[in-house]
Amino acid sequence: MNTFHSKNVVVGAGISGLMLCESLVNRGEEVTLVGPVDNRVQTICTWRHKDKPTQYADHIINSWDQWEFSFNNHVQTHHGNEFLYEALNGQSLKKALELRLSESENFTRIAEPVDRSQAVDNCFEVTTKDSKLIAANLFDSRPPQFGSNTLVQQFFGIVVHTKYLKGELTRPKLMDFTLPQRFDGALAFTYILPLTEETTLIEATIFARTTVPYEALRSMAIEWLVKSSGEAFNEDMVLYDESGCLPMGDVVPLFAGNPIGLASGSARPCSGYALSGLQRQLSGLTYENDYSSVSCSPYSKLSAWMDRIFLRVLNREPQIGLSIFAAMTRGLSGDRFAGFMTDNFTAVDALRIITTLPKYPFIRAVLKNDN
Ligand SMILES: Cc1cc2nc3c(=O)[nH]c(=O)nc-3n(C[C@H](O)[C@H](O)[C@H](O)COP(=O)(O)OP(=O)(O)OC[C@H]3O[C@@H](n4cnc5c(N)ncnc54)[C@H](O)[C@@H]3O)c2cc1C
Repeated sequence: MNTFHSKNVVVGAGISGLMLCESLVNRGEEVTLVGPVDNRVQTICTWRHKDKPTQYADHIINSWDQWEFSFNNHVQTHHGNEFLYEALNGQSLKKALELRLSESENFTRIAEPVDRSQAVDNCFEVTTKDSKLIAANLFDSRPPQFGSNTLVQQFFGIVVHTKYLKGELTRPKLMDFTLPQRFDGALAFTYILPLTEETTLIEATIFARTTVPYEALRSMAIEWLVKSSGEAFNEDMVLYDESGCLPMGDVVPLFAGNPIGLASGSARPCSGYALSGLQRQLSGLTYENDYSSVSCSPYSKLSAWMDRIFLRVLNREPQIGLSIFAAMTRGLSGDRFAGFMTDNFTAVDALRIITTLPKYPFIRAVLKNDN
């Protein structure tokens, strides 16, 4: 077995592992990344302030200044004057990061899974099938355990040729509740992204206390497709698929060293959106020289408080989410909604959001003093 010494070892070659490696290499530090190449398809969406330049220009699939929500009896359209909703190709982003890093002489890549990692004296020891690494700093992005009260956001998306859909879809449908609810203790909706002129992503999603078989979510996405196309389904309609399960709430890191990415709470509890949290964590490292920033919650106290109350309500009765989202999306402008989702909001905005929400379940959640 080969033994290596490295100042920094990063475990997991997902987006957070790769982005952290790039931040460290840009600071002139030596880093070793351990983990299989991550080829998973990931369409990563996030709101971006129009005035803020993007660091992902090469990976943007599409962006929109409008988005909508479909409830049983109305469609709510949001217009973003300040914010865009943007879809990135996560797979090409990971590939580009791997390539850029491979060109740095401060970077070493071991594309094997980690078998074991532990703290030993003042350093860390990481073992794979063929190698042992001794590191001063260990950052680990392997998936965490979800906290006992944490809801899951589970999704399965199929990408189909746009020609199958009736009517032109020009903007994302962030939540479509027009299919019947079907899972106990879960809020189910469909998320539809008109990615390009040729391709559309149809993703069945649940906010739930426990996961369901992915096959059930795939069937739901197909049901939406059949309803929209009016045609019988056949497998040739599906170009590719993607799926995942994100935490909505606390996570428990499982490994030695500093957790990063999803394992350190980069996913926003109320939504599961993780990319902007990850950027904030890394900017703490870049601008403040603060290693611990990559393992701390990147969200403001105000949004943490709002999310906690919101999740208490949803946890008690996930299907109440339908009336909450209907009220919230009706009561907020597109920019205020995007501001809330990206944690760019003030206490006055928070009050405005609270006034849109159904009162009774929220009062009960505020008064509940456990957790
Ligand atoms: C399909 C999909 C769509 C998403 N869409 C959005 C979105 O629209 N907006 C948004 O903000 N966020 C989205 N997310 C969430 C988030 O942005 C991503 O998950 C992002 O990739 C952050 O991930 P991460 O690197 O922290 O963790 P992960 O992506 O979970 O990476 C963990 C890595 O650890 C590796 N690993 C596991 N076991 C081992 C081992 N034993 N040894 C070494 N390595 C190991 C895995 O191979 C993986 O590469 C999405 C996630 C998925 C999966």
